[in-house]
Amino acid sequence: MFFDKKILFLIGAVSIINSAAAAIIHTDDHVPSAAPSIKSAPVAAKFQSPIRIDANKSMEKDLPDIKFNYPKTLLFDLEFNGHTVQANVSEKDAAGKEQEASIELNGKEYELKQFHMHAPSEHVLGNKRYPLEWHFVHQADDGSRLVIGVFMDDGKETTAPYNGLIDQLASTMKKEEQHDFNKRSFGSCVLNPRALIPADQRCWRYDGSLTSAPYTPVYWCVVRAITTISPEDLETLFRAAHVNTRSTQELGDRDVSFDATIDPPKKTIAPTVILKHKAAAQRNKKQSKQRSRAKHPRKFSHRSTASQHLPQRSSIAAH
Ligand SMILES: [Zn+2]
Repeated sequence: MFFDKKILFLIGAVSIINSAAAAIIHTDDHVPSAAPSIKSAPVAAKFQSPIRIDANKSMEKDLPDIKFNYPKTLLFDLEFNGHTVQANVSEKDAAGKEQEASIELNGKEYELKQFHMHAPSEHVLGNKRYPLEWHFVHQADDGSRLVIGVFMDDGKETTAPYNGLIDQLASTMKKEEQHDFNKRSFGSCVLNPRALIPADQRCWRYDGSLTSAPYTPVYWCVVRAITTISPEDLETLFRAAHVNTRSTQELGDRDVSFDATIDPPKKTIAPTVILKHKAAAQRNKKQSKQRSRAKHPRKFSHRSTASQHLPQRSSIAAH
C-alpha cells in the first residue's frame, strides 16, 4: 500500500512547508534561464498561487480559446533542479534544428519554456488535492507568464505521453536505490507536447503568481479534464523528486472564471449532430470489425486494449 504511506508522509511534509514557507522552496523553479531581468528584479504578485478552486463559485464565461502552436514532437531535457522534476524545451532537436512551441491567447504569443511536476497537486479542487499536478510554463517577450496546470489522478495506466517521460526517469534511475535530491540530469526524451495537455481545454482562469520565489505574476489556466497515473509511475516520480507543494493562498477579491466554451471545431457542431456522428462512427466501427474478423479471425482472439490508452476521465466527479 505504497500510496497510503506516501499520503501520510505528504500530509506531514506539506504542513512543514506551510510553516517554514519560502525558506524551503528552491528559487529557480519556473524561472527560465533566458529571463535574467526578471531574476534580478523580482516583484512579487499582489495575488498569490496556488488557490483552492470552488467550481460552484467560479464565473462561467465564453473566454477565448488558447491556440496551441505546438509541433508534433519536441525534444525535452529532463532534470531534477533541486526542487522538481522539470522538462526543459531543448533549444535544438536531435537533428540540430531549432525548436519552438508556443500558445496564443488574446493575440499575445507565449513561448513554452518548460513543464514540471508538483506532488501532491498545488491547486485544490473543492476538497480534493490530486496526487500530481503539472505546470506548463509559457513566457511572452515582455516577460509575462501564462502557466497551464494539469492534474493527475490515480489510475490503472498513465496517460500518454507522460508514460514516456516517466519511463525515461525510470531507466535513468535503474541502477540507483534512491537518488540523493541533488540537482541532476535524467537525459532527454521526445514527446508530443500537445498530447500532454487534455484536448478538452476548458479551464479555470485567474490572476495569480509563481508558486515559488520570486512569486511574480502569472495568468493561470487550470484544466478541468483529468489525466491519470499508475501506482508504479507515481512511485517513480516520488523517487525522482520530493514534496514541493506550496500551501493554498487566500483568494481575496479575485474572480476565478471558468471557460465554458470548447475548442472551435466542436463549437460548430450541434449536440444532435454529435450524437448522429457517434452513432455512425460506432456503426462503422462495428461493421469494419466484423469485416476484419472475417478476414483475420486470429487477430481478435484477445480483447483490444486500445481504449485504455485514450485520454481518460474528461471530467471530474463532484467533490
Ligand atoms: Zn509549478
